[in-house]
Amino acid sequence: MSPTSRPRPQRTIGRPVAVSGRGYWSGTVVEVTLLPAPADTGLVFVRGDLVPPVTIPARLASRVDAVQRTVLAHGAAEVQMVEHVLSALAALGVDNCRVVTDAAELPGLDGSSAGFVAAIDAVGVVDAGAAECRPLVIDETVRVEAGGSWIEAGPARFAGLSIDYELDYGPGPIGRQRLDVDITPAAYRTELAAARTFLTMEEAQRLQAAGLGRDVSLHDLVVFGADGPVDNPLRWPDECVRHKVLDAVGDLALAGRPLVAHVRGYRSGHRLNAALVEALLAADDRRHRALA
Ligand SMILES: [Zn+2]
Repeated sequence: MSPTSRPRPQRTIGRPVAVSGRGYWSGTVVEVTLLPAPADTGLVFVRGDLVPPVTIPARLASRVDAVQRTVLAHGAAEVQMVEHVLSALAALGVDNCRVVTDAAELPGLDGSSAGFVAAIDAVGVVDAGAAECRPLVIDETVRVEAGGSWIEAGPARFAGLSIDYELDYGPGPIGRQRLDVDITPAAYRTELAAARTFLTMEEAQRLQAAGLGRDVSLHDLVVFGADGPVDNPLRWPDECVRHKVLDAVGDLALAGRPLVAHVRGYRSGHRLNAALVEALLAADDRRHRALA
């Protein structure tokens, strides 16, 4: 039995709020404005620099496969590195928001979602009218796996999303880390939001060769060498697994509805998280057709 949540109105943010910072990939300063949006808008990105502006829904159907980040597209218009702002919006219970950006990527900030959380908290979360939120309530466990990694969603243990995640980098400074947490706004703010993106030195060198980071320094994200983080103290001993949970919250937001589920994952990344969303939406679709 999964706990049923009492229906609540859909929510948005109290007023517009701006966030700016450098894009990891372009190296240029990106200006982002989060705008309140009416019920049933969902979370959408708007490429405000294009003429006319292009709206890209934060839905699975918009997702483009990419390495180390989540990319969404509509036609030729793309927006990259969307997972951290989506994570912050979803975790704080924002169902409807227009995220207007003047570049093809979101700012990297300090590699975490803390800057987005601070912006949302500065303007507050409010009802977006009378329309009810329709959470995706998971009754039966759905699991996806690939190459020894897996992630599954099953019945919820409270009226919301909880995530039990384990990463495993084998022997070395990152090692194995596990975190099991209820994704409430309070827990997200204190336990997850400040956890930063991390890379191994090999990943960092590969990405740099692929164009990451003309202006990215070792202080803008956490790079792990053989002996631990290079030139950058950790915020928690298990900061890596906290960031993986932060990322998963953002990836799961591509369902377009709040999840009421307990999610367990082992070494799952953006691609497998998206595959889980696809499987959950397909299962929900089948159930509705069976009821119809
Ligand atoms: Zn991330």
